Amino acid sequence: MARLSKLSRSIEGKIALVTGAASGMGRATAHLFADEGAHVAVTDLDADKVSRVVREIDEAGGSAFGWVLDVSQRADRVAVVSAIVQKWGGLDILINNAGIVRYEPIDAPSFEEGWGRSLDILLTAQVMLARECLPHLEASGGGRIVNIASTEGLGATKGVSAYTASKTGVIGLTRSLAVELGMKGITVNCICPGPINTGMTADIPDESKAIFAARRSALKRYAEPEEVAHGTLNYVLPASQYITGTHLAVDGGLTIKNA
Ligand code: NAD
Repeated sequence: MARLSKLSRSIEGKIALVTGAASGMGRATAHLFADEGAHVAVTDLDADKVSRVVREIDEAGGSAFGWVLDVSQRADRVAVVSAIVQKWGGLDILINNAGIVRYEPIDAPSFEEGWGRSLDILLTAQVMLARECLPHLEASGGGRIVNIASTEGLGATKGVSAYTASKTGVIGLTRSLAVELGMKGITVNCICPGPINTGMTADIPDESKAIFAARRSALKRYAEPEEVAHGTLNYVLPASQYITGTHLAVDGGLTIKNA
């Protein structure tokens, strides 16, 4: 009998835009997608850090090009999407990954400024960049958007309400865009990472990480960024064409563990 399975698990030749790709999960995703044969637009705030990741991918035999993209700036979003399409002839995959976290209790003097900045970067930029990429994702014939949310979108930690509200919003935005863009053949999903060793968690002492992970996660450890990137890769495979509007917790069992 001929093989029953027909759908492809290869992203070779696909064109992918990854935001916040100079560090952590964005960098790991850019590397993994390039390892899998995609052309990767490595984008982030700092030109030198972007160049470093592009060089790494180059040396590993992958295809990447770098752009400075502040996701909160409309002019950057317009210019970079247009430059990517000019360079590679299209755009198939958007990974909305860039992020910040600010510890700011509601009575902190900087709260109002922090709230606006956090929502701009974590939530508003995701939908605006999706808007910018839309015609190209539609033309791709199998466009993919993956938004990076957080387990903070499924629960809450005190002192980071702007982050929690944004990440909860990302899950809602993902569902909404999935419904709206389904007719264009674009799938939209999101990842809810748990505790991951990246730039964002670099200041937390190892002992505190170990205590937290032992108490809260089933796997009793922080994860490495590549472990999350593989979850993201699954969503962008051609074979994942019927998966949309979902969230995937890549959290070592943190959100399902009661005791
Ligand atoms: P990271 O700090 O290592 O990387 C984040 C990157 O985003 C940085 O390179 C930073 O320069 C970039 N960035 C920040 N503001 C930007 C802007 N305005 N425009 C473009 N780039 C910008 O952290 P990470 O943990 O890899 O974060 C990636 C995503 O994962 C974020 O959305 C974060 O909220 C989310 N997340 C992280 C964890 C964790 O434990 N590390 C858990 C859940 C979710």
